[in-house]
Amino acid sequence: MRAALSLVMLLALPSAAAAADRPGVLATIGMIGDLAAGVAGECAAVSTLMGPGVDPHLYRATPADVRAMDRADLVLYLGLGLEGQLAEVLGRFAARKPVVAVGAALPQDELAAGDGVDPHVWMDPGLWRQTLPALAGALTGLTPDCAGPIAANAERIGAELDALDRWVADSIGALPEPARVLVTAHDAFGYYGRAYGLRLVAIQGLSTESEASVADIAGTARLVAEAGVPAVFVESTINPRTIQAMIAAARDLGHDLAVGGSLYSDAMGAEGTAEGTYIGMIHANTRAIVTALGGMPAPLPAELAGWAAHWGVTE
Ligand SMILES: [Zn+2]
Repeated sequence: MRAALSLVMLLALPSAAAAADRPGVLATIGMIGDLAAGVAGECAAVSTLMGPGVDPHLYRATPADVRAMDRADLVLYLGLGLEGQLAEVLGRFAARKPVVAVGAALPQDELAAGDGVDPHVWMDPGLWRQTLPALAGALTGLTPDCAGPIAANAERIGAELDALDRWVADSIGALPEPARVLVTAHDAFGYYGRAYGLRLVAIQGLSTESEASVADIAGTARLVAEAGVPAVFVESTINPRTIQAMIAAARDLGHDLAVGGSLYSDAMGAEGTAEGTYIGMIHANTRAIVTALGGMPAPLPAELAGWAAHWGVTE
């Protein structure tokens, strides 16, 4: 038994050694992990702490997470109060290795304030692309030999995100002005609304740490019924009960409210799907919003042709 075990360990050694050649990067949320993996290319192995459907506002580190942070050579997180429950663990590792708050690199005057700073900065691709220099800088610090490829990758991704930004603007901009209303469970879409001229109605506040009250739900239902908003959206990381309660409240007021599909708010979709990428997350959200509000998404720009072909996305 003991001999068999050590043989397995010996056989496992070569691939483990190959993986260990590259520095390890750990990102808290998928939106950072996806960008970091693209910028790093072959120069670092990037993994992500929180998977699809995980709510970063409430997330607490597991013992396995602490071990993963311990192993990583670089830890990337957003900051801006998003990973509230991780602050202590992140602080503990910051004394021993680079622990970089990507959100701190964003221009302060472009951050939206409400009850504190709105952390959902990835919702505006034009703002999110401004994290690329910080990501490239942190990764270059980790692998100085890779400075060339890292800079080239960052530039390519920047061009893709610029094109994504223009595509969303064209798609939302084609909706008639009164239809540009987005009703969601919590206020994750403030930056999206600001960037693309959508009026935002959120039942809950910026964070999911408190439940929406009956008064919140009734107030939103009244507003939506009066404005004749056709659809309301559910979010992948939020309990759909809040939205269901609002649809019922709107029905009591004589207004039929459709569910405009599921939006990715605080996490990307499943790994191995188009929605499991940052571009795919914004693309899927925009397509769902534009379609439910009675419009048609704009044709995809040439810069996104590679992404679309890779994932089999045709519109
Ligand atoms: Zn959120």
